[in-house]
Amino acid sequence: MGRVMGLDAKQARCCIVCGQAKTDGISVCGQFICMDCERAIVTTDVDDVRYRHYVDCMKRIWWQVAP
Ligand SMILES: [Zn+2]
Repeated sequence: MGRVMGLDAKQARCCIVCGQAKTDGISVCGQFICMDCERAIVTTDVDDVRYRHYVDCMKRIWWQVAP
């Protein structure tokens, strides 16, 4: 009662793709991808110019994880 839900439970994190602080999203290898970008990645056609950007962002994640 009278308690603000949301910010306590979910901490905003910086999305590695769009660079915005979001609360909803997934963690990939410790890196955060917001729900909007995650959806965009799976729905973007491989021929789409934006796909390259997403792939580059994903590569950045792997590079940070790789030894
Ligand atoms: Zn994003």
